[in-house]
Amino acid sequence: MSLFSAVEMAPRDPILGLNEAFNADTRPNKVNLGVGVYYNEEGRIPLLRAVAEAEKARLAVQAPRGYLPIDGIASYDALVQKLIFGEDSPLLAEGRVVTTQALGGTGALKVGADFLKRLLPDATVAISDPSWENHRALFESAGFPVKNYRYYAAASHGIDLPGLLEDLNALQPRSIVVLHACCHNPTGVDLDLADWEQVLEVIKARGHVPFLDIAYQGFGDSIEEDAAAVRLFADAGLPFLVSSSFSKSFSLYGERVGALSLVTDSREEASRVLSQVKRVIRTNYSNPPTHGATVVASVLSSPELRALWEQELGEMRSRIQKMRLAMVEQLRAKGALQEFGFVSAQRGMFSYSGLSAEQVERLRTDFGVYAIGTGRICVAALNQHNLDHVTNAIVEVIEAL
Ligand code: PLP
Repeated sequence: MSLFSAVEMAPRDPILGLNEAFNADTRPNKVNLGVGVYYNEEGRIPLLRAVAEAEKARLAVQAPRGYLPIDGIASYDALVQKLIFGEDSPLLAEGRVVTTQALGGTGALKVGADFLKRLLPDATVAISDPSWENHRALFESAGFPVKNYRYYAAASHGIDLPGLLEDLNALQPRSIVVLHACCHNPTGVDLDLADWEQVLEVIKARGHVPFLDIAYQGFGDSIEEDAAAVRLFADAGLPFLVSSSFSKSFSLYGERVGALSLVTDSREEASRVLSQVKRVIRTNYSNPPTHGATVVASVLSSPELRALWEQELGEMRSRIQKMRLAMVEQLRAKGALQEFGFVSAQRGMFSYSGLSAEQVERLRTDFGVYAIGTGRICVAALNQHNLDHVTNAIVEVIEAL
């Protein structure tokens, strides 16, 4: 008998399954709105010019590929800190923030989760309802029980703030609360600053441990404004963790460039925390890869490349916003039986469209328009060439169902 004969087939990843079905579809006007990446007007993942420039310079140097330190490239870590906490953050001046390069935002969440499991073995983790589908699996795999807190109010396409606060209050003290710092995935609906202040009050009162996930910095309003929640927590003087990612903002998905930051009480505490986080990394993948973080560090540290990157990030942000507005306008002009104005107020790459699972299914079977069963669509996959087909399809499925 084989060692593996009793191994059961794991459930299929629903998004990967959708992609496979999309690839097998032979209809020429098929559109994949189920993806989690930014596509440009030509329907392709862009290679940013700032990235291409930095890569050219890196290639010319013919740098050797030795091991990096366990916590990654020091200059990269310092640049990440400034981007997230702000150039003039007193926390940085006081040496209270530990930042380690990580394998994307996912890697940062996992290292953070493993570190927290050693520190708070009996804690519960709370994630938003709904949340990025990997949050639950990731914290469960680190050994934590995972609960949902109320977040999205489907009827108003907004936030269920009373429900959210009530649920955070009801968690056992010192729970780990995972929060999307901006551009909430999958809903596109964010807390405003007044909401954040109320969330912070409950977190402080209950002694919870906030874990802020910022995977779309720059896709909401701007790099600085999208960090407002992180800065609010930084000013509050409590310990917290931040996972950050450049997958989207640098269009470097496959290079796995992210970081884990931990806000501590003092420089001395920071050095102890860093030593333990390094142990988690060392026994996991030893040290991170060189390429992506080198590229990001050279872009962020060169005034010219940084300006170019900010411009390109701004172009991605405004193209998505343009697509939101155009989608809403077309649906209105075509006499859709539902009003979609709320889509233009949502932020980031995604929209909870409000379409039912049945309507999503019909979009796929009848029109070759692929979306996730929850009705999440990736607005960043819309463009001038496919928008007309998508809005026609939505109008028709709403009429039919
Ligand atoms: N967190 C959220 C909310 C996300 O949406 C994603 C990616 O989709 C990630 C983390 C992971 O990002 P990365 O691809 O950098 O691992």
